[in-house]
Amino acid sequence: MHEIAMTENILSIVFIEAEKRNAKKIKKVKLEIGELTNIVGDCVQFYFELMSKDTIADGAEVEIVDVPLQAKCPRCGSVKRVENLDFLCE
Ligand SMILES: [Zn+2]
Repeated sequence: MHEIAMTENILSIVFIEAEKRNAKKIKKVKLEIGELTNIVGDCVQFYFELMSKDTIADGAEVEIVDVPLQAKCPRCGSVKRVENLDFLCE
């Protein structure tokens, strides 16, 4: 359900960017999806295919890149990969 609205937003952004560049056809869309977003990449790909039918994005490849959760410590500035929601700095 969440992914339907998300995919609508993605498509509208894609169309705006395509228009800015006078693009006639969209061949590929690369999406970076953060770990805590609860967005299922496969669902976005599915809805994208459905919603882009008969548009300039019809048939475009949707590449999903999973972005792991990272946190930056406000005290020492170190960046670490967050696992099991453990945000504490060592
Ligand atoms: Zn720290």
